[in-house]
Amino acid sequence: MWFADDSSAGGRVQRLRAWWDILRQKGPAYGYAANAEKSVLVVKAGHLTEAEDAFAGTGVHITTDGHRFLGAALGSTEFVQSYVSQKANGWKDEIVSLAKIAETQPQAAYAAFTQGLKHRWSFLCRVMECAAENLGPLEDTITNVLIPALCGKPVNSRERRVLAFPCREGGLGLVDPTTLGDQFRASAAITSALVRKILDQDTQIGHVLDLVRSTKREVASRTRTSTAQAAKEFILTQNTDIQLCVGLAAEKGASAWLTCRPLKAHGFALSKGEFRDGLALRYGWPPAHLPSICPCGASFTVAHALSCSLGGFPSLRHNEVRDVTAGLLKRVANNVTTEPHLQPVTGEAFRYRSAITDPQARLDIAASGVWGSP
Ligand SMILES: [Zn+2]
Repeated sequence: MWFADDSSAGGRVQRLRAWWDILRQKGPAYGYAANAEKSVLVVKAGHLTEAEDAFAGTGVHITTDGHRFLGAALGSTEFVQSYVSQKANGWKDEIVSLAKIAETQPQAAYAAFTQGLKHRWSFLCRVMECAAENLGPLEDTITNVLIPALCGKPVNSRERRVLAFPCREGGLGLVDPTTLGDQFRASAAITSALVRKILDQDTQIGHVLDLVRSTKREVASRTRTSTAQAAKEFILTQNTDIQLCVGLAAEKGASAWLTCRPLKAHGFALSKGEFRDGLALRYGWPPAHLPSICPCGASFTVAHALSCSLGGFPSLRHNEVRDVTAGLLKRVANNVTTEPHLQPVTGEAFRYRSAITDPQARLDIAASGVWGSP
């Protein structure tokens, strides 16, 4: 089997020795010089002596523990587990560094995690069956160090579960690495046709690639459905406030600010306050640094701030809707004005008593020529 310029083979010791000799003999004609120093033979303990005899004088390293192979580890259970722990420890250190960045730049740290870092361990979980179950310490670091730095507050186990959902299900895509066990089975299903070809030593792989692609699509769609199902079932067991928040966060477009790249040039970069306030509003957490009492005397909650006429939010909201509507009308109508005065009332009678007859009465928006010529 070849992956780029890495060659490998599995089988009985004598056959492997024959393969090694052919590789050394025919390789140079193709510009390939097999390097014994960098080659490793992994054997079961009972075959060690036979392997040492067969490969005597070749310079190939022989081990009964195991070795790294294409980003995964092959060998004894202890070796494989220690390989995963070693990887996880490295990633834990990276999470701690990322959490330091998250203290001042939570949006950048969040993007680095969801769009880059987490793919490292999802790769390991794809290629090694036992990886996910050995990533508990990594998950602890994500929950106890990174998430508090991103959100500006620690989260409880229920909130942690919600944040692990994909953004489209109302979460943040901060996946718990220990739940990635299915990735190995998915990868095995996707690559099974290729594995068959390798075992049969069949080099005609054209139509198999189509099969791999279609299996990949099927597996992805099944995973999406089951993740959505699990998220919905969990949310149904929670109180109505959480159900409402997560339901709204799962609406189409409600997570675009989280899944985009935080590019300053496009106005997508958020300050630490903006990012954490966004998360607080998404999950119904009280935003940090709010005054406790409104000038009107009521306690200053988010709901109160949005409805109290003293705070100015209702008119801001009104003006936003007015200006967006006026902006759209300008594309199709002439003479669009906002807040124009109405003609003064000089004794007219109105059918509706709610009609405003004040001489200062104004419209929100006026546009000429929407329905006919101006
Ligand atoms: Zn108020």
